[in-house]
Amino acid sequence: MKESLLEILCCPLDKHELELEDAEYEGDEVIDGTLVCTECGERYPVEDGIPNLLPPDMRDKSPA
Ligand SMILES: [Zn+2]
Repeated sequence: MKESLLEILCCPLDKHELELEDAEYEGDEVIDGTLVCTECGERYPVEDGIPNLLPPDMRDKSPA
């Protein structure tokens, strides 16, 4: 994902902004890291350049 995508993305639970932590870059793409909600502190992983913004309870139910 492009880092500029952060301006568009928001927490699915409360619609607050997300901060990027532990980011790894490839060119101008974020390929790995963690998105942290500035409001509720929920954490969303970025894996292979794709932000996983499913709420934690839905994440557990989805098949592997
Ligand atoms: Zn939140």
